Amino acid sequence: MSSPDLFAALKSRFGFESFRPGQEAIVRDVLQGRDLLAIMPTGGGKSLCFQLPAVLLPGICLVVSPLIALMQDQVRLLQDDGIAATFVNSSLEPGEIGARMRRSFNGEFKLLYLAPERLLHPDFLSGALPRLLQAPGVSAIVIDEAHCVSEWGHDFRPEYRQLAMLRQRCADVPMLAFTATATPRVRADIVRQLALRQPAVHTASFNRPNLFYAVRLKNKRTYAELLARARRAPQDAGIVYCLSRRRVDELAAMLQADGIRALPYHAGLDPDQRRLHQEAFIRDDAQLMIATIAFGMGINKPDVRWVVHYDLPRTLESYYQESGRAGRDGDPAECILYFGAGDIRTAEFLIQQKVDPATGGALEDEQRMARQQLRQVLDYVESTECRRAVQLRYFGETFAGPCAQCDNCREPRELEDRTIEAQQFLSCIARLVQRGERYGASYLIEILRGGRSQRLLDNGHADLSVHGIGRKLSAEAWRGIVRALLHQGLVNQSQDGYSVLSLNDASREILRGRRQVRIARAAHPVRASATSTAG
Ligand code: ADP
Ligand code: ZN
Repeated sequence: MSSPDLFAALKSRFGFESFRPGQEAIVRDVLQGRDLLAIMPTGGGKSLCFQLPAVLLPGICLVVSPLIALMQDQVRLLQDDGIAATFVNSSLEPGEIGARMRRSFNGEFKLLYLAPERLLHPDFLSGALPRLLQAPGVSAIVIDEAHCVSEWGHDFRPEYRQLAMLRQRCADVPMLAFTATATPRVRADIVRQLALRQPAVHTASFNRPNLFYAVRLKNKRTYAELLARARRAPQDAGIVYCLSRRRVDELAAMLQADGIRALPYHAGLDPDQRRLHQEAFIRDDAQLMIATIAFGMGINKPDVRWVVHYDLPRTLESYYQESGRAGRDGDPAECILYFGAGDIRTAEFLIQQKVDPATGGALEDEQRMARQQLRQVLDYVESTECRRAVQLRYFGETFAGPCAQCDNCREPRELEDRTIEAQQFLSCIARLVQRGERYGASYLIEILRGGRSQRLLDNGHADLSVHGIGRKLSAEAWRGIVRALLHQGLVNQSQDGYSVLSLNDASREILRGRRQVRIARAAHPVRASATSTAG
């Protein structure tokens, strides 16, 4: 299809002036009839990549989508654009399903959305599918949220595995897999599990240039800051993510009492109430959704202007996905993560709770993985580097900052000289090494702070010259320093699960006074200038 035709269709059928990055190349591959795997960030506009070809190609396009709400949403949007689309899922009466299928056989629809279990149902496979293939013909089979096929993804759905059988039954129909989840392992899994045939692979950049990222210190003023932000721009829709249901309820109640149209959302509410709250948010009857991570996937609200994490996200990937619900319309939006020292304790506590319900023993692999993920989140939070660069590196992209759209790029953090503290900490390690002993950070901090636990006394560590020399700093402050030393490669940590610390060449230079240690403050203090971003 010539370019003017493609652009004309984009404009006349969807009302868009131009393609978003990556869309045109995908559309062209789909029009060629190739199998395809497209990885696009949330808000990248992946729906258009199969909807436009579906409109242009003869026949009907089948779209497998895991969420009923998402399906209905997309069909409604298509219908608003005057595009013949429908869906079939368990929310419909059998009679209605029959009617929609008959209209599909008649070639009345360009797109038919289906839940996976519907498509895989024996009646559909042996009855409806062959009829559709015969007439009007199937232009493509789209697997939306294709990462659900992979156990390595964050949302594994066993029924997705069986979708591979479509490959045999519809040998000539192109299969198109779409996802916003990017790790290489999940990608490989999708291609294998869905038996894609030499797919064209498209990976859009995960950079979301319209999002402003910042990390702020969580403290007594955090609530006031949130409230002020909500009041300053009452028309700005926002999502506030909290770790627990209780926190969601508390925060929503506080905001309501302060006159903000805020609603709670979590898995503890009954389904009707959840639906009502979600609809109120989408219609802008509520300004803020205070939610656990139960709120998110499949919510189609492109004009969310800010996403706040009131608690630490579990992984950097989940942070990317959750914060990425801001600004899907491409207009400026902000993502703020509040972080306090207590968050680390909570996260560590939750990791320790990961035990086998049968034996009560620790699930060591899961705990190890969760610790590694926590470390990545802390790296992000405490980094002085461009936030974008850190996030994109995690997805295997290189991004050369500065981006001018994150706190670290706009206002580089002040560095403080921490050479003395570093020397104190490292000499504590050195003293123990002389005695042939190796320990992890917490115990070393206990020694420095002059702890007198039974274990410490029994070990004879109260007699060390370094015992108590670091009293003037809190354990929390010490932990921040140790993490910075680790980030900067100024001390080594064993990866065997015991996290024992040891000296390296850089540590020895510091001990000899030949090297300075400069560490940024834990997070940005609250500053008015950092909050006025979204126009
Ligand atoms: P996702 O990739 O998250 O599924 P969507 O397909 O829902 O994203 O698209 C996100 C938003 O971008 C929607 O509001 C959609 O209408 C809009 N959009 C998609 N393509 C374009 C385009 N070429 N020009 C302008 N807006 C677009
Ligand atoms: Zn930046």
